[in-house]
Amino acid sequence: MEKDVVILTGNEAIALGAHEAGVGFASAYPGTPSTEILENIARSGNIYCQWSTNEKVALEVASGASLAGRRAIVAMKHVGLNVASDPFMTLAYTGVNGGLVIISADDPGMHSSQNEQDNRYYAKMAKVPLLEPSDSQECKDFIVKAFEISEEYDTPVLLRTTTRISHSGSVVKKSKARNQETARTYSKDSMKYVMIPAFARNRHKILLEKFEKLKEFSDKTDINKIVNLKDKKSFCKIGIISSGACFQYASEAFKDYPILKLGMTNPLPFGLIEDFVSDKSLIIVVEELEPFLEEQIRASFLNCKVIGKSFLPGYGELNVEILKSLNKFIASENILEFIHEHTLKDLENKIKKFKEKNSYISGNKEKNDIKDSVKKTIPPRPPVLCAGCTHRPVFHILKKLKVMVMGDIGCYTLSVLPPLDSLDSCLCMGAGVGQALGIEKANDNYKNKVVSVIGDSTFFHSGITSLIDNVFNRGTGLVIILDNRVTAMTGHQTNPGIGSTLMGEDTHMILPEEIVKAVGVKNIRIVDPYDVDLLERTIKEELNRKELSVIICRQECALINQKQILREFYIDESVCKKCGMCIRIGCPAIGYENDKYFINQAICTSCGVCSQICPWDSIKANEENNL
Ligand code: SF4
Ligand code: SF4
Repeated sequence: MEKDVVILTGNEAIALGAHEAGVGFASAYPGTPSTEILENIARSGNIYCQWSTNEKVALEVASGASLAGRRAIVAMKHVGLNVASDPFMTLAYTGVNGGLVIISADDPGMHSSQNEQDNRYYAKMAKVPLLEPSDSQECKDFIVKAFEISEEYDTPVLLRTTTRISHSGSVVKKSKARNQETARTYSKDSMKYVMIPAFARNRHKILLEKFEKLKEFSDKTDINKIVNLKDKKSFCKIGIISSGACFQYASEAFKDYPILKLGMTNPLPFGLIEDFVSDKSLIIVVEELEPFLEEQIRASFLNCKVIGKSFLPGYGELNVEILKSLNKFIASENILEFIHEHTLKDLENKIKKFKEKNSYISGNKEKNDIKDSVKKTIPPRPPVLCAGCTHRPVFHILKKLKVMVMGDIGCYTLSVLPPLDSLDSCLCMGAGVGQALGIEKANDNYKNKVVSVIGDSTFFHSGITSLIDNVFNRGTGLVIILDNRVTAMTGHQTNPGIGSTLMGEDTHMILPEEIVKAVGVKNIRIVDPYDVDLLERTIKEELNRKELSVIICRQECALINQKQILREFYIDESVCKKCGMCIRIGCPAIGYENDKYFINQAICTSCGVCSQICPWDSIKANEENNL
């Protein structure tokens, strides 16, 4: 019998929420920490799901599904919303037909991202309602609520999680699912959906009116509420305001103070906040990254003394220890008395002095203590390309050739680390191909000395337009497409080059070389990166060419290429000169201990790259019949 109460991660709970909300369409581009949302929705089997080529397209197709009357959900990581921001901003004007919910999974602490931007500002800029769940139950419940808001107020809704919420598990109580068949009918309405200036002006006015109504909703909804209000503390002069994962830290660190827990953070419930702050002498806003709540509360309640970022860091994740140190400060310095007679500025100066004297406040000491205890029990696992990674030989050669390498987002970004140490840049999805063109146009010295590298999925995501720009503007550089036949970094999702959809249907396999040829690149080479000599020759030839060229390095990701290993590589100690060349390619299967180099057969994938790199032919293979 299926259980009604289950333990789910935030991402799994969002998927369950989509099911209970009667969602009929789901799309996404994979990106940590959001990837598992679509994977889990797809597992339910009764919702149409698709990986899209990028987040902008994912939102556009979902908006089409919404227009057709279906409830539609789109998931992406925070930087994905930058890509999708164009349709996002204008969807706020057009509104929706079927409910439309966009998940932005933010990544404070940058566990797997190139920045830690705070996407709550997108909701504010677009005037779109924003919900922030604090645990898995709320992830599920807020999705259902988000669809109700979306349809009632004719607006897309942004639901923001952070890595802690996306990947932590907690208890979720299931509810009855809404019937998917309750789709709305579509009626043509050009003035609503066709955003020519004449119509958009009116829609902007409607958006502002809608936002006023949403403010009223925010004030009365029970997803904004005061908690921790024990009778004896109801007259407490200190109050906490928080949302999302930070609410969990705040409720653990500030057990004695009432907390205004905000589930809806755009628009803010200003009436509720006014009630909450009216009898308090000090308000502490607990939030990660930007002072999104703090600035709005300060600006709206000028008589209220509000602190937040003057004590808490504006970067990284918060934790209970940091908040406990704030609690300690309040207790030890008799703050309530102090603020009675001093200004907020005085209090901020006091905080500054306290922080200078107590460097542990950043929480780093406690974190380091934890790290030290972990270090003793778990061997270090530095981020490296996997054993047998198909990208390794490419970066080994690029390093050897001492060229400038414009990178991109993918597993191959790890080639920036020693010993491969190859990348000069990694900005955002699809950026490397454009950056390389800019470099050669800006400085002739870099002609034939700059290479851009991009993965197959990233090429489909946003590399194609940069390649067209190279062709259009007569670029002469070398672009290497690292085609490992899968979207590897986020966990082997399909992409347009694979030939199958997320729903398991066969589809046209779009080969990068067909696109490269179609946009006008004349010099296209396809190489197996495991053939190191051929790869090096090809890179050298194409680097010296006076025209744009593209090399496609095609070999399945070592993790999917689980063919039977037909040979076993070993180092022949009798001929090994201990030059260390093999270890410099950074394969985790090659080790050095007791003055000996060795291959760890448990993780070696038998790619054969090291045996081609050893200058003394000391790495040999036992062939199949010897195994
Ligand atoms: S053959 Fe060499 S390079 Fe390839 S996985 Fe094994 S040890 Fe690593
Ligand atoms: S590259 Fe070859 S000779 Fe040099 S240490 Fe490795 S196995 Fe020995």
